[in-house]
Amino acid sequence: MELLKERIRRDGIVRGNDVLKVDSFLNHQMDVKLFEEIGKEFARRFDGCGVNKILTIEASGIGIACVVAQSFGCPVVFAKKSKTKNIAGEVYTTRVVSFTHGNVSEVIVSKDFLGPEDRVLLIDDFLANGAALEGLIDIVHQAGATLVGAGIVVEKAFQPGGDRIRAKGVRVESLARVASMSEEDGVVFCD
Ligand code: 5GP
Repeated sequence: MELLKERIRRDGIVRGNDVLKVDSFLNHQMDVKLFEEIGKEFARRFDGCGVNKILTIEASGIGIACVVAQSFGCPVVFAKKSKTKNIAGEVYTTRVVSFTHGNVSEVIVSKDFLGPEDRVLLIDDFLANGAALEGLIDIVHQAGATLVGAGIVVEKAFQPGGDRIRAKGVRVESLARVASMSEEDGVVFCD
């Protein structure tokens, strides 16, 4: 998606060799017009797949997922990072290692909001090592729902998540795939 790549080239900030800061339009201040274009692009790519639910993970995926969901005309459910003890049976639960913080968090989704009747599109801002996406895939499987695929805004293709998840047969569509990056040279895209 050229519009997105241009924006990353212009406003993205590379930290070290593996962190891309996009706080001015994606992760902190949010450019909703850009989100709308992102939503339309995912709707085009997953047209005819019968998506009736978007699933994302707290926190940075939520804003994007909400705008994407408007293009699909369906609700969004987000996996919550849970600190409280959950009563067994009420929630699906999985553990996710955070790329940005390094800690492990338990995330939950209420059984009220995801079930076998759902055709789910996963949405997230970044794909790096794949832990967030794998956690969401686990929840979809626990729910007995159908996994349509995953829509990712920025995939860091030099990290292993994308390859590993595609190797499991999951359709992953990324709008900007980063081949490499450095503070000196900025971001190099795959195509
Ligand atoms: P993964 O679980 O695939 O290793 O990492 C994905 C999650 O980590 C995303 O939900 C995103 O919030 C965060 N993340 C990973 N890499 C980056 C990055 O380069 N920049 C930002 N802003 N977030 C990232």
